[in-house]
Amino acid sequence: MADVIVVGAGNAAFAAAVAAREQGASVTVLERAPRELSGGNTRFTAGAMRFAYDGVEDLRRLMPDLTDAEVAATDFGAYPQAQFFEDMGRVTEYRTDPELCEQLVTKSRETMLWMRDRGIRFAPIWGRQAFKIDGRFKFWGGLTVEAWSGGPGLVEAWTQIAAREGIEVLYGARAVSLVCDDAGVHGVRVKQGGRTRDLACGAVVLAAGGFQANTEWRTRYLGPGWDLAKVRGSRFNTGDGLRMALDIGAMPYGQWSGSHAVQWERNAPEFGDLGVGDGFQKHSYPFGILLNARGERFLDEGADFRNYTYARYGREVLKQPRQFAWQVFDAKVRHLLRDEYRIRQVTRVTADTLEALAAKLDDVDAARALETIAAFNAAVRTDIPFDPNVKDGRGTEGLPIPKSNWADPLDTPPYEAYAVTCGVTFTFGGLRIDGRAAVLDVDLAAIPGLYAAGEMVGGLFYENYPGGTGLMAGAVFGRIAGTSAGMVAAGRSGD
Ligand SMILES: Cc1cc2nc3c(=O)[nH]c(=O)nc-3n(C[C@H](O)[C@H](O)[C@H](O)COP(=O)(O)OP(=O)(O)OC[C@H]3O[C@@H](n4cnc5c(N)ncnc54)[C@H](O)[C@@H]3O)c2cc1C
Repeated sequence: MADVIVVGAGNAAFAAAVAAREQGASVTVLERAPRELSGGNTRFTAGAMRFAYDGVEDLRRLMPDLTDAEVAATDFGAYPQAQFFEDMGRVTEYRTDPELCEQLVTKSRETMLWMRDRGIRFAPIWGRQAFKIDGRFKFWGGLTVEAWSGGPGLVEAWTQIAAREGIEVLYGARAVSLVCDDAGVHGVRVKQGGRTRDLACGAVVLAAGGFQANTEWRTRYLGPGWDLAKVRGSRFNTGDGLRMALDIGAMPYGQWSGSHAVQWERNAPEFGDLGVGDGFQKHSYPFGILLNARGERFLDEGADFRNYTYARYGREVLKQPRQFAWQVFDAKVRHLLRDEYRIRQVTRVTADTLEALAAKLDDVDAARALETIAAFNAAVRTDIPFDPNVKDGRGTEGLPIPKSNWADPLDTPPYEAYAVTCGVTFTFGGLRIDGRAAVLDVDLAAIPGLYAAGEMVGGLFYENYPGGTGLMAGAVFGRIAGTSAGMVAAGRSGD
């Protein structure tokens, strides 16, 4: 019998397992997926993590490998806690739970250092989050650091740390329900290799992800049409952890009708493909325009840095006829397109004239598309200089749907267009936890022996999300949940 059982083997789960172990608890991790597909959504990420830092010295503490030459060639800026709070507030329309948000922001830097001290390495995200202007990189959008070797590297690092710490990980082990009585949770019923058994423990940490991979729950909670979305990541996050907790009276919390959803390759498979990772996403839309089947624009592509719009624009694409759009660019911005535009598995058309391009846009009203582009080109404030590193204010004038920044006439061939649909990343609805990450019941009392972390925590995100916050939240609340579970478990498991 383990003191603590952690359900899931993504970033939040491993943070919880390691933190519980540090409290002296013995820990067993249950991972539903086989070893080669393990790691949940975490494995699909680029490993980008948002945390508060006051300047380059904070980054040097996190990344001691940074050289003087790299520091000299880069403007890392700062991302103070106040800015992180402001971003969380603004993008969630000030609905984010203040206590959860406070923990996330104020514990972000110390949690990154805690991860580094355990052996997780980080690197600056040159290229994706900083463009080179006049020989110097400048970071923008509060997202500066990623885990070494991205999501796969992060999962691998956690797996090695867990092994070193003597944490047992059972693969192909699906938690099906919680073992509990009036005194709280005492174990997990698990199905592994076709056999169901009960594993006893002193405390359980649920870190089994959201319900984005469950078509029926998506339709039920996110609404009609969401059954047609692609799933960006793990097919194993079907809401099991949420169901298990709700079954014993846990309180649902947060925006159950909301999700993180992005523009995603139109012809991508139903679930994420670990061979492609996050390569199906198409995040350079601020430098082009989007056209739907009617040949019309339908959102402000340049409303903000992509970090602050990308997570809600998938939903906007889902609302369009036949759930697709084309992202259109000209040669002037080609060098700004992220590397995901150059993968093999991409639906792209190119042409030397706009007329030829419009004719190649599958399922689009070509005549109307040309009118839209002409109107857009005529509306651009070309008197304002284009600058991808700042919100340049180079917008459009007089269009029913403006483009607020980085507007540039489509006038330089060759032209390119990429077909996208909606890819759902994770769902926002979850469980209600207290400051120790204990799961609350419907009377708002803590359920003894039950903790939650990661995508399963409700109340942090509403409507939108600042890029890089999912892994950070998973680490912060995973560490808190594991610490709490570890502290109480040894005592309880002796009951
Ligand atoms: C393509 C993509 C790119 C992303 N990029 C970023 C990024 O760069 N930065 C960022 O911050 N966020 C990113 N995200 C979001 C990020 O992946 C999540 O917010 C984060 O990984 C969630 O961590 P988690 O531990 O809660 O869940 P997960 O990592 O999904 O882990 C859940 C675990 O639970 C397991 N599980 C499920 N059901 C059961 C069960 N019944 N029994 C046992 N185990 C079970 C799963 O197999 C999995 O191991 C991205 C997501 C995707 C899909």
